[in-house]
Amino acid sequence: MRADLLIVGAGMVGSALALALRDSGLNLVLVDGSPLDLAPFEAQAGFDPRVSALSMASQRLLQRLGAWPGILARRASPYRRMDVWDGSGTGHIRFDAASVHADVLGHIVENRVVQDALLEQLRDSSVGLLANARLEQMRRSGDDWLLTLSGGRSLRAPLVVAADGANSAVRRLTGTPTREWDYLHHAIVTSVRCSEPNQATAWQRFTDDGPLAFLPLQQGDDRHWCSIVWSTTPVQAERLMKLDDLGFCRALEQAFEGRLGQVLHTDLRVCVPLRQRHAKRYVAPGLALIGDAAHTIHPLAGQGVNLGLLDAAVLAEELAAAQGRGEALADLRVLSRYERRRMPHNLALMAAMQGFERLFQADPLPLRWLRNSGLGLVESLPSAKALFVRQALGLSGDLPQLARP
Ligand SMILES: Cc1cc2nc3c(=O)[nH]c(=O)nc-3n(C[C@H](O)[C@H](O)[C@H](O)COP(=O)(O)OP(=O)(O)OC[C@H]3O[C@@H](n4cnc5c(N)ncnc54)[C@H](O)[C@@H]3O)c2cc1C
Repeated sequence: MRADLLIVGAGMVGSALALALRDSGLNLVLVDGSPLDLAPFEAQAGFDPRVSALSMASQRLLQRLGAWPGILARRASPYRRMDVWDGSGTGHIRFDAASVHADVLGHIVENRVVQDALLEQLRDSSVGLLANARLEQMRRSGDDWLLTLSGGRSLRAPLVVAADGANSAVRRLTGTPTREWDYLHHAIVTSVRCSEPNQATAWQRFTDDGPLAFLPLQQGDDRHWCSIVWSTTPVQAERLMKLDDLGFCRALEQAFEGRLGQVLHTDLRVCVPLRQRHAKRYVAPGLALIGDAAHTIHPLAGQGVNLGLLDAAVLAEELAAAQGRGEALADLRVLSRYERRRMPHNLALMAAMQGFERLFQADPLPLRWLRNSGLGLVESLPSAKALFVRQALGLSGDLPQLARP
């Protein structure tokens, strides 16, 4: 089978790209190694441990792709405030949606909810969807790429987009070089129920071992749930994973200074090693990398999928513009326009997060003073705070049409 454009990976980012190009007239095929089953959503079902904080820019983009109503119909938890503080100092900063005349700062949504809402739209489109089709081999064949999928199926296309996540097979099979840093952090991810309501606030406490986030979740009218991302040293993570549920709830409550009262219940815990990866190039002739296949960033930023959705929107915009001018979409000059718009933005955020993370892990007194006085300074300057809020809303930088107001 031959396609004009082949997207490997139907996660949130690959599915968004396919939807953004559904009316382009291109023969578009989206392949994924998983079954892509659309199970009916149970409102009382437990929370998926993988959630994302979707920015306002991502919300707009998902709205324009037609997926936002499907997300709201399932489950999405708006958050209106952010509360960030240094657990071993005095620094404290609070952001409020009202300060920039917005209703919300964003929504916490389970990844599978976003993906199902996107897939629902794709099922009604002309995009070819191949499930249970894991990419195993890929090589150049004339002007095309020839891809071998699990089960021996093969596909060819002049343009392949890698949206196959942090351990991208496309990146590996094409020998695309990356820069990688081990954060020496593992993240424990789960959902917990607290005795106090979450106040529609995203909380982040910087502990000596790493950041601990409590992100508000809502089940019907019940606002006592939070999604936890606890980044800590591998040794500490191993110790916490070995605790029974009661012991873990007590340790969590203590690490969070009991801000939401008692931690009454924890769901199953998942432990993920954290690595930062960045592809040295996002493009090559006939090839583009988007989302986590191009970059993975520390979850303390809560920005991974937001960056990936913007990659998808910018690539779709550049491909549509090139199509309008009659240019070959696989041409490196066309693809480089996407890279030029996205790489500086992604790199700047990754560098800022790395600096932030180092600053909060540092023990020397001058650095402790710097972070406490820095947080205090931002807290006391309304214009600096507004800048941070705009960043959290995803409203800064060169936004693609799909994400603009
Ligand atoms: C602990 C943690 C917390 C996070 N919190 C946030 C947050 O609050 N906000 C935020 O924005 N981001 C967050 N992120 C990051 C976010 O989860 C990722 O950025 C996002 O999932 C990337 O989406 P993606 O579509 O690029 O990749 P993925 O979601 O990884 O999707 C990749 C897809 O490719 C498919 N695939 C993989 N290999 C193959 C293959 N060989 N052949 C065919 N298909 C394949 C997979 O089945 C999958 O469907 C967090 C990440 C972690 C680890």
